[in-house]
Amino acid sequence: MEEQFKCAVKKEAAKGLIYICATPIGNLEDTSFRLVKTLSEADFIIAEDTRTTRKILLRFNIKKPPNSIISYQDYSKQSKVDYIIELLKTGHSAALVSESGIPSIQDPGYKIINKCIEEKINISVIPGPNAALSALVLSGLATDSFLFLGFLPKTKSKRLEKIRQISSFPYTLIIYESPLRLLKLLEDILQTAGDRAACIARELTKIHEEIIRGKISDLIAELKTRQLKGKILKGEIVLVVEGLKEKHNSQINEAAIIKEFKEIISRNVSKKEAIKILRDRYNIARNTLYNISLKI
Ligand code: SAM
Repeated sequence: MEEQFKCAVKKEAAKGLIYICATPIGNLEDTSFRLVKTLSEADFIIAEDTRTTRKILLRFNIKKPPNSIISYQDYSKQSKVDYIIELLKTGHSAALVSESGIPSIQDPGYKIINKCIEEKINISVIPGPNAALSALVLSGLATDSFLFLGFLPKTKSKRLEKIRQISSFPYTLIIYESPLRLLKLLEDILQTAGDRAACIARELTKIHEEIIRGKISDLIAELKTRQLKGKILKGEIVLVVEGLKEKHNSQINEAAIIKEFKEIISRNVSKKEAIKILRDRYNIARNTLYNISLKI
């Protein structure tokens, strides 16, 4: 066992229990009473970023014994996971926290949670802040059915492929993105999924919180204008995009497909790519679309 992550905790007779704890996404005042109580009472804390966790402990005057915070990332060694599981199996309680928001949502935690389920260790949740749902409700876009995508692939071809796959879904899309790649992402969405309503939710719960709503083309224009003024978008960002508006079968006739085909290729998309997009969107045979493309 590696000494640096051995923690000084007392063994209790009760069965172990792990709490999956949501922490603030930028504003410490979003800390819940239950989070404070859980962090205070847990025998040990499993933290993605011990410095961020210590800020919460300090702010709410939570005293923990030395070495009772174990740092944990997705790439942590299996021996560390085994050690955590052993502590839980021997009756200790733990609070699992990530750097912000809900652990395991684009943050470490998934492996530990699954191991706990496998080992029949009790699991509970301390719900709270989450960037995706906060952005969704602020966007004003449909909340009845949505798809959380997290971060899309960084490679352009893989990203385009992913957007093409999901462009036919009638669900609001929620995407995490860095401000440095946001413009490229918006351009890829415009090219592949069309000019949909969207929303950039930036720095939620922080001093510079900002919500920009509009069509994808409006958002692109806004970012370009800011770039020209040297005001590059900074901070943490969630992009929310309208799902495909469902069409009745009667609306999917040849004239409508030709219109969409023209729209797609007017955005510098090749005919071959446009066929793929429309095939995924309406489940129309490639040959039928190829024949339609010849008429354009
Ligand atoms: N576990 C977190 C959750 O529950 O939302 C997500 C962590 S993920 C590593 C970090 C990403 O979440 C950021 O790059 C950004 O896309 C989004 N995010 C986190 N905090 C945010 C905030 N305050 N405002 C906007 N987006 C945020």
